[in-house]
Amino acid sequence: MSASNHYDVIIIGSGAGGGTLAYHLAPSGKRILLLERGGYLPREKDNWDAKAVFVESKYRAKETWYDKDGKAFLPGIQYYVGGNTKVYGAALLRFREQDFSEVRHHGGISPAWPFSYQDFEPYYTKAEQLYHVHGQRGIDPTEGPASAPYPYPPVSHAPRIQELFDDFKRLGRHPFPLPLGILLDEADGKALHTSACVRCAAFDGFPCLVNGKADAQVICVDPALEHSNVELLTGAYVERLETNASGRVVTKVIATRNGEEEQYSADIVVVSCGAVNSAALLLRSANEKHFGGLANSSDVVGRHYMRHNCSAFMAISKDPNPTVFQKTLALNDYYFRSDDWDYPLGEIQMLGKSDGEMLKGEAPGWAVWKPEFALDYLAEHSIDFWLQSEDLPHSDNRVTINPDGQIVLSIHETNLEGHQRLTAKLKGMLGDIGLHDKLMHRSLYLGKDIPIGGTAHQAGTVRFGRDPKTSALDINCKAHDLDNLYVVDASFFVSIAAVNPSLTIIANALRVGDHLLERLGL
Ligand SMILES: Cc1cc2nc3c(=O)[nH]c(=O)nc-3n(C[C@H](O)[C@H](O)[C@H](O)COP(=O)(O)OP(=O)(O)OC[C@H]3O[C@@H](n4cnc5c(N)ncnc54)[C@H](O)[C@@H]3O)c2cc1C
Ligand code: SF4
Repeated sequence: MSASNHYDVIIIGSGAGGGTLAYHLAPSGKRILLLERGGYLPREKDNWDAKAVFVESKYRAKETWYDKDGKAFLPGIQYYVGGNTKVYGAALLRFREQDFSEVRHHGGISPAWPFSYQDFEPYYTKAEQLYHVHGQRGIDPTEGPASAPYPYPPVSHAPRIQELFDDFKRLGRHPFPLPLGILLDEADGKALHTSACVRCAAFDGFPCLVNGKADAQVICVDPALEHSNVELLTGAYVERLETNASGRVVTKVIATRNGEEEQYSADIVVVSCGAVNSAALLLRSANEKHFGGLANSSDVVGRHYMRHNCSAFMAISKDPNPTVFQKTLALNDYYFRSDDWDYPLGEIQMLGKSDGEMLKGEAPGWAVWKPEFALDYLAEHSIDFWLQSEDLPHSDNRVTINPDGQIVLSIHETNLEGHQRLTAKLKGMLGDIGLHDKLMHRSLYLGKDIPIGGTAHQAGTVRFGRDPKTSALDINCKAHDLDNLYVVDASFFVSIAAVNPSLTIIANALRVGDHLLERLGL
């Protein structure tokens, strides 16, 4: 291998984990190579076209995975510079303090993390500053202590959502502004001429045509590339990693680019392909020193896959909902328990506004409920919610590779009772405030092929911990079994809590970045 193919650090995958790490290491002057299987997401009018995005799945990977019975499905996954953050909803929340400890759920135990919220807190603060999080502390009673205020004020509610906020408060609940990573500068509910974000209707699940969303490409990868020591290769699919004879050191990163095999090496190799693809890469890299897959003497690689129990719902109101930017409210009153249930239920958030085109993709189920309503009418009268509950890390929920090298995802649903109760609580509240208490289940946003959760919030397949028998990574996210291999995407999660995962992925990448800078002698 030529010297020019040797780097100080190689990072594989440029999403929330890898992109953030590249940004953090870039000023070090060390030679850094970012290998990304995708290209840049094209900037075009279809970015904001609901039919192109949700019905035709224009930006989704054209890839087939298989379930445990061998049935093919299309995962809800995107391969681009910036990873899945190119389409994410940018709800950037911290885990609650208790989420770092063992939590007893109706369906079992959510295990403790190897350190506390307090250890993680400084990185949450840095992550919020880096990703321009707009929010307000002191309203959500479940939030943990923070060493700094949010760097930006909360995104203002549209009048209809402000009404909902006031209604929930009247019911004695504690709605709070959903923390959002957004490049928005607004006054009186309108984007200022200086604002990148224009407060449009395409916030959730769409790419942003005008780079107004704090995604990993805009916030981290593009600025990292301004440093001459950082190089990005797109269209570079990493097939496998090879080790030296002892098996302790990754010596080769084998990638396919433009149909040709290429080889790279680095003093430090960081895998950050997303929880499913990182596990798959380690499993594909099995060798005589690592029979069951790289870094897998514990046999946990691929296991404990989590993705949240989540649902998208529309509540239909007799009054139209003219809201354009809807995703500004959340509610954690049922996060840990309810008045009639002593286990966690989960979090309620607003979802981006429904659109008639999206509903056409789901039409058969809808037509049965209210055939007399036109889909556009339903969309115009809907208020849209996202309900999210914790699923548990079951060792049989796992990623494996079939004999043809394809990804197999085995899922057994866990801990569903809390989610069902959360749905019932939302229905009850909506009935109390005069909204139609019939909630219409939405499936398109989640990905049509898997009923609960899709793969958007995938996590946990290469868990970290102090014990090499039960974890693949140490607390710095270095593989216990190897000296120069790290994993910094959502794979390291021990549990997934009931908040969206990205802020925790970003904060952890900054934490691991500090460790790597120290290791590099900086
Ligand atoms: C529609 C949608 C909405 C979402 N909304 C939110 C939200 O509101 N809040 C939130 O916190 N999270 C949200 N998420 C989840 C969030 O996007 C992910 O949790 C986050 O992007 C995961 O970060 P990651 O680094 O683990 O992986 P990714 O961001 O997926 O990055 C992995 C990268 O690795 C690349 N890659 C994969 N395999 C290889 C390989 N073999 N070789 C080279 N490169 C490879 C991929 O192309 C990708 O760029 C949402 C996701 C979706 C799909
Ligand atoms: S709301 Fe803002 S960030 Fe979202 S797509 Fe529109 S302009 Fe982009």
